[in-house]
Amino acid sequence: MIDFVADKRTIEETIRYHRDWYEEQNANLMTSKPVLQIETDSKTVITTTTTHSNYDSLLIAVGCIPFIPPFEGLSKQNVHVIRTLDDALDIREAVRKSRREIIVGGGILGIELAAAIKAVGGNPIIVTNIDTLLPQQLDKMGSQILLGHLAKMGLTVLRNFSCVRISGNDTADGIVSDAGDKIDGDLIVIATGVRSNIQIAKNSGINVNRGILADDYMQTSASGIFAAGDCMEWKGKWIGIIPWATATARVAARNMLNFGSMRFEGITSSNTLQVAGIDLSSIGEIDPKSPDYETLFSVDENKGTYYKAVIKDNIIVGAISLGSRKVAMKLRGLVNQKVDISEIKQSLFDND
Ligand SMILES: Cc1cc2nc3c(=O)[nH]c(=O)nc-3n(C[C@H](O)[C@H](O)[C@H](O)COP(=O)(O)OP(=O)(O)OC[C@H]3O[C@@H](n4cnc5c(N)ncnc54)[C@H](O)[C@@H]3O)c2cc1C
Repeated sequence: MIDFVADKRTIEETIRYHRDWYEEQNANLMTSKPVLQIETDSKTVITTTTTHSNYDSLLIAVGCIPFIPPFEGLSKQNVHVIRTLDDALDIREAVRKSRREIIVGGGILGIELAAAIKAVGGNPIIVTNIDTLLPQQLDKMGSQILLGHLAKMGLTVLRNFSCVRISGNDTADGIVSDAGDKIDGDLIVIATGVRSNIQIAKNSGINVNRGILADDYMQTSASGIFAAGDCMEWKGKWIGIIPWATATARVAARNMLNFGSMRFEGITSSNTLQVAGIDLSSIGEIDPKSPDYETLFSVDENKGTYYKAVIKDNIIVGAISLGSRKVAMKLRGLVNQKVDISEIKQSLFDND
């Protein structure tokens, strides 16, 4: 979707599964009929326009929704979020007319979107309320090196700016901080995170916490109803990435057909920043608080490289690689294969 904003992909290329795909799978696709509720006793699905009865098993995979802080002035024109293809279309159209784009949020989505807007001739600024970028994927040193990369690309980042208000009359003309500072901009995109979409489950009396609660079989508190992907929470865990969605969906699908046939055992979180010219990957546990972990670093501010490995019992359980795809692949392999690294500690970050 970000590539669509950057004009590197067409709509056709952005849509992963076209109508033909559903036909090939013998799946009946019904669009524009949002589900409101499931009546679990009568096994009935209630949508905005229809009801369907007598399912054998049911999967809730409704993803997540953007988290929007309670800024004043959110209803003004030219204030956007990025979640759906329609959002991307609106933003792409708005960038054609805007002079200064403000991206509120210094996470993966905010940075990738700012780079895409820059690639099509925009003049974006990334604004974040904390001191570091990618708080979920990077530590302080990694964030510092990343800031250097972004500065070289001509991307402006403003940190420690706590936005509270969107200014302007009907149309946004900037954002204002809690300290009363203002940044001018005529396109505002809020990329401040997401929350699991738990509304259907709530309406249906299915147990939720941050996400829809599912057990090892991806079954919810309602027998025969399963949940997978961004809307689901398992053992207090939630990772909003495609590998989590596909891994949980696979387990749910197996158990919907043959209950008890597959258990979910979790996955290692893994994120890659997809900005041309920056090789940044973050895998697993990168900031442990317990003294049981050992941490190895390598940093070169001139070259713009930063590598980190978090080790427990001679196994790497988390890693950051900024500056080399080769090192990233090597560290990812070591994490996934749980390799004993006691013999290769000295050469862990060698780029060969
Ligand atoms: C711009 C962007 C870029 C991203 N890039 C990456 C990336 O590079 N790598 C990565 O791993 N992850 C990425 N992600 C995250 C990734 O898209 C999600 O983790 C993944 O799509 C989750 O899949 P899902 O099936 O759980 O939910 P979604 O893909 O969100 O699908 C949810 C579906 O449910 C439908 N739905 C919602 N409510 C209802 C309702 N009431 N009734 C009926 N249907 C409903 C929605 O229309 C949608 O079709 C990105 C996300 C965004 C927004």
